[in-house]
Amino acid sequence: MRENPSQFVPLDVPSLQSRKSLFGLDAEALAACMVEAGEPAWRGRQLAEALYRQRIAELDAITTLPKALRQRLASEGWQVDRPAIAQVFQSADGTERYLVEGQCGDGLTVETVWMPEGDDGESGDGSDAGGGSNGNGSETLRAPSYPRFSAERVGNHQLGSTQGLGAPGLDSETREHSRQRATLCVSSQVGCAVNCDFCLTARLGLQRNLTAGEIAGQVLAVFDRHAVEVGRDRVNLVFMGMGEPFLNYDNFMDAVRLLVREVGLSPQRMTVSTSGIVPGIERFAAEPPEFRPKLAISLNAPNDAIRSQIMPINRKWPIAAVIDAVRPIKLRPRERITFEYVLLGGVTDRPEHAVEVARLIRRTGLPAKVNLIAWNPGPGIEYATPQTEAVEAFRQTLADAGIPAYVRKPRGRDIYAACGQLKRTVEG
Ligand code: SAH
Ligand code: SF4
Repeated sequence: MRENPSQFVPLDVPSLQSRKSLFGLDAEALAACMVEAGEPAWRGRQLAEALYRQRIAELDAITTLPKALRQRLASEGWQVDRPAIAQVFQSADGTERYLVEGQCGDGLTVETVWMPEGDDGESGDGSDAGGGSNGNGSETLRAPSYPRFSAERVGNHQLGSTQGLGAPGLDSETREHSRQRATLCVSSQVGCAVNCDFCLTARLGLQRNLTAGEIAGQVLAVFDRHAVEVGRDRVNLVFMGMGEPFLNYDNFMDAVRLLVREVGLSPQRMTVSTSGIVPGIERFAAEPPEFRPKLAISLNAPNDAIRSQIMPINRKWPIAAVIDAVRPIKLRPRERITFEYVLLGGVTDRPEHAVEVARLIRRTGLPAKVNLIAWNPGPGIEYATPQTEAVEAFRQTLADAGIPAYVRKPRGRDIYAACGQLKRTVEG
């Protein structure tokens, strides 16, 4: 196991203060901003409508504001500054991985992944990730065929260069009658400080936190690319990209509130995954249900001994402490806590591990389900992908113990878009 070179100190970017970004501010902050500019407060609501409902990405295109006001705001340095897709990688399985440029002017990009037709359980309850995900849904979105691992650069904050790559979801033939179903995997930090031994993102260390605008902006940038209609299309959000959301708690929750209140998404279609940051889980447990996504815990091991070896964070917050922090959450009817479990061949995938996991989860008494994830390889990481039979046997043991368990299909492995593979990999 490697030493832990990272730190748990959040790295925010001071230069952001000097950049006047409208995107990321909620209606109240936008109203305050308008009042400061000598305008009535209701202009803030107009701005919120334009930014988050109409998804207008240029100040000058917000025609609900008088031209003179737009010009004045621009001359004072205000801009929309919505994160934009800079590069697209397309997988043979329809998954797309994006590099998204942030708001901080430091050139760092984050990764966002679009998985058409859901993800076999990533959404948190195993059933609503998309009817087509089990292969027998009748309403499946017809995915265009993709060249294997094609990369597309998107210049100057626009999506002009999709020609010839079969820009997905946008043509009327594809959108015909059906609602889109997809899962969008969103990042919360650039890199990660938690240093799990099996995860490629860990190798970056923590570079910085994302702002609320950068977290919510990933969602809107991808929604625009796929012409997602909020309220019609069924897109689940999973905060399972780069980073540990609960080590960037305030910005993460600000983003959730923006997405719920201003964009109009349901928190019940959002799942946040944590490696087990106890103070974060405690705060999360106190969030009002109207702004609380579902929760997934990356358990990944049957006991503290193995977990501490593969996830150093376990030495600070062992399994029992994590479970105690989860307990006060007031679950909605039928809501379950998801336990994610990465199967590392020969390390965490043995039959006795499955028995131990089943016992552990039953002892918690929590309504739970398990998402099993076969380990996705990454360069320089010395683990093995488990045998298919071992994965199925593991799932069966849990199911026999009365615990709903799903095997998550790896998505976009060929473009490094699968779980734990996000590391701003540009080359094939
Ligand atoms: N930091 C958060 C969320 C992002 S990681 C967390 O750890 O929960 C999302 C999921 O990917 C976690 O469950 C993590 O255990 C899993 N994961 C990390 N590396 C992986 C790999 N190489 N193969 C499969 N799953 C992996
Ligand atoms: Fe961070 Fe999650 Fe990767 Fe662990 S698994 S290093 S917490 S991103």
